[in-house]
Amino acid sequence: MRHKALKGIQDILHPETFIWQRLEAIARGVFRAYGYSEIRLPIIESTEIFQRSIGETTDIVEKEMYTFTDKGGRSVTLRPEGTAPFVRAFVEHHLYNEPPPQKYYYMGPMFRYERPQSGRQRQFYQIGAEALGVEEPVIDAEVIAMLSVLLNRIGIKDIEFEVTSIGCSKCRPDYKNALKESLKEKLNLFCEDCKRRYEANPLRILDCKVKTCVDARQGSPSVTGFLCDDCKVHFNGVQHYLKLLNVHYVINPNLVRGLDYYTRTAFEVKSSLLGAQNAVAAGGRYGSLVEEFGGPGTPGIGFAIGVERIISLISEPSAGAKGPDIFLCSMGHGAEEKILVLAGQLRREGLWAEINYDKSSLRSQMRRADRMRAKTVIVVGEDELKKNTATIKDMQDKKEFKVPLEAEEILKIIKEK
Ligand code: ATP
Ligand code: MG
Repeated sequence: MRHKALKGIQDILHPETFIWQRLEAIARGVFRAYGYSEIRLPIIESTEIFQRSIGETTDIVEKEMYTFTDKGGRSVTLRPEGTAPFVRAFVEHHLYNEPPPQKYYYMGPMFRYERPQSGRQRQFYQIGAEALGVEEPVIDAEVIAMLSVLLNRIGIKDIEFEVTSIGCSKCRPDYKNALKESLKEKLNLFCEDCKRRYEANPLRILDCKVKTCVDARQGSPSVTGFLCDDCKVHFNGVQHYLKLLNVHYVINPNLVRGLDYYTRTAFEVKSSLLGAQNAVAAGGRYGSLVEEFGGPGTPGIGFAIGVERIISLISEPSAGAKGPDIFLCSMGHGAEEKILVLAGQLRREGLWAEINYDKSSLRSQMRRADRMRAKTVIVVGEDELKKNTATIKDMQDKKEFKVPLEAEEILKIIKEK
């Protein structure tokens, strides 16, 4: 029987994995420079972790979660995002006792039961960062600047940073009322979901992707006009520091995020090179999430990058994928055994050494070396074996010469290149 991966869930194959590794290495380097430590979180959590924090009336919780009952009768969920599990761990391990800011990053798969399409999988990867314990707007700007540096290092171009403030629990009620007031007369134009959201969580109407809803909400007030004084000061501060740190951004007062826990700063990075699913990264500040999880009042701010969307922006994903450092060809039984041992010695020194495992001709071994893009080839035949020498060939300039058949000698030549 032949099997296929589940719908919307992909294998990631070589040489694309090479790009993934490079991207992850760049991310680790940038996080290190900014003082972020890695945290590895489970991919499965109890369902409540997500329900309340992301919000009962968000698309994620209402429609997209992989939730099931385990053998012990508990409701568990494959994580749809990283912030809620992170805050759970932050509180569980009393990480708030470390001196602030507490800075962490994570990488790994997320799961959302969405309609699979370009830029939308059911399993996708995120690289995310969280900084906690700082109320001042400077950290918001620094987190956004770090994201900008990271995307820049990866070589992502044609992106735009959109920034806004979505207020706090003080100013949002006023805004909610104003929004409801403005939509009251045209509620019949909205989809069934939005009609329900109108009472339960009117802000969610602003995130609805249904075309008729997008049109119908045109002209409704935006939250930036309702910010309280503290939120205004904070938002001005964020903008001041973004300018100081030379981050180019636009203010999008209509930006809403798909998660309820955000307060004040929210941002998204969009690419003009992607189609409908054009957000490559997104994040924001969360004022009371740590408290909701039972910890002491600790503000946080973070973001998550959609790795597949970033990868799709990297042209020639396999460019730069390298071949073996050395390919060892042999003819005859004695030579075969000799190169088997030799390859082992070279590998212990960290070289990528390839050998042949069947009795194929020298020509076919050379063809394989070529296909693999080996940088250097060594040929050992019975004659060479007797004289304890080998012919070494540089695959770029095609030059050949003899070398002693010793690991140290060969190593020296390769290292010199
Ligand atoms: P979108 O508006 O595209 O649905 P979102 O607001 O649901 O995004 P977030 O929860 O903010 O997404 O996740 C951060 C990033 O993760 C997104 O900007 C995107 O790059 C990526 N992402 C989210 N959902 C998916 C998915 N189903 N498949 C691939 N990438 C995704
Ligand atoms: Mg979504």
